[in-house]
Amino acid sequence: MVKRALINVDYTYDFVAEKGALTCGEPGQAIEDKVVELTKEFESAGDYVVFAIDAHEEGDQLHPESKLFPPHNIVGTSGRDLYGKLADVYENIKQQENVYYFDKTRYSAFAGTDLEIRLRERSIDEVHIIGVCTDICVLHTAVDAYNKGFQIVIHKDAVASFNQAGHDWALGHFVHSLGAKVL
Ligand code: ZN
Repeated sequence: MVKRALINVDYTYDFVAEKGALTCGEPGQAIEDKVVELTKEFESAGDYVVFAIDAHEEGDQLHPESKLFPPHNIVGTSGRDLYGKLADVYENIKQQENVYYFDKTRYSAFAGTDLEIRLRERSIDEVHIIGVCTDICVLHTAVDAYNKGFQIVIHKDAVASFNQAGHDWALGHFVHSLGAKVL
């Protein structure tokens, strides 16, 4: 039987809310119910559910994103809170053994984190990726998952971007270059 993990990427206030610092806007808000549904479904099925959440230090000039984007997801601010109903779902499941929340500092959930070790410990072979942005953090996480030999599933109704062309391109790339299933 295939062992699965669900990777929730960056579904936070700053990336989703209307007034978020680096928001996807309406496309991000439109996937809220699907993100919530999948998170509940995987958790109750006993699959591994991870929350890989961007974390930046205020005024960190050494971080490459400081030259690319306005400050966002600053540690200790409400901009890092999970967005909308996902925050409530997380509160309800956070004590479960199959739920893991961790900080990431780069686009990919694998960069400088213990995610791979945790997936290997659990003999997980298939990662399902949801969240934002399709063509940035979701994409980079998927590329790393591909290079590490994981099967990849992208839920197209649970990923979004501020950039429609980038979103559409990434969905094709997942299939044609990373061998992912896009559901
Ligand atoms: Zn960032």
